[in-house]
Amino acid sequence: MDVTEIPTAIVTGATTARGIGRAIAVRLAENGHPVALLGRNPAAAHDYATKIADKYGVPALGLHCDVTDPASVDEAVRETSARLGPIGVLVNNAGTTDPSRFLDIGGATWGSVVDVSVVGTFNMMRRALPDMLSRNSGRIVNITSVSAQNGGGVFGGAHYAAAKSSVAGLTRAVSREFAHAGVTVNAVAPGLIDTDIRGEVDPALIAEVVSGIPVGRMGTAEEVAAAVAFLCGSEAGYITGATIDINGGLYLR
Ligand code: NDP
Repeated sequence: MDVTEIPTAIVTGATTARGIGRAIAVRLAENGHPVALLGRNPAAAHDYATKIADKYGVPALGLHCDVTDPASVDEAVRETSARLGPIGVLVNNAGTTDPSRFLDIGGATWGSVVDVSVVGTFNMMRRALPDMLSRNSGRIVNITSVSAQNGGGVFGGAHYAAAKSSVAGLTRAVSREFAHAGVTVNAVAPGLIDTDIRGEVDPALIAEVVSGIPVGRMGTAEEVAAAVAFLCGSEAGYITGATIDINGGLYLR
């Protein structure tokens, strides 16, 4: 990466107040990246982008984008590139979960969980890569999950584990193909992070899960964002096809 220039970054799924995507956008802005926050709630994305621009003094945009829809992805990337400059950093964070047991997962539920992570990550990488290839430099970070390693659990079912495992494979495959072109592609696999993705979950159930985490607490969105920002930076140029686990030692037991 050319360290004299801090490239434009896109973060998908950056429309929830306590979410990992918003924290990543904040951290990248803090590091000087012009940043676009994407999601299906453009009002929230715009609001967060305005606050980021005011606080960190970088250009920031909040745009509508449904990552499962190639036309919507095309429009969001085109607008970001036109207004903030060519894309040099892409963080595929958009995701959704569902606690259904295996035999209760119908086709629509399967699609709703798998499409956002797998098709969404595929669509975004395909659309953003040409900008990176034209600069001979780029950083892609895909958000997977500890569920890809331990098979999921109470908060995400088999469809969620399958989706995140697919993103892990996609990450490694694309990292091989574009390493020669200066583009690194890595994954970050969070464990239990304190956001609103799980909806209204019984606090007793959360406490039970936390009791199995060696560090003894949930992680924070900011802790995930710090690792993502490192992988997006100029010092991470020799890291590709890797996964950073941020799970408080969850699978050590
Ligand atoms: P949130 O529910 O807070 O955020 C999810 C984001 O994804 C929202 O901004 C939502 O925005 C966006 N999104 C959902 N569907 C689409 C779509 N079709 N197109 C574009 N954006 C979409 O969850 P978290 O911040 O907790 O999760 C962020 C990522 O981290 C997810 O990939 C999740 O799987 C992963 N993760 C989270 C863990 C946790 O414990 N919190 C653990 C492991 C992984 P909108 O509805 O506006 O489109």
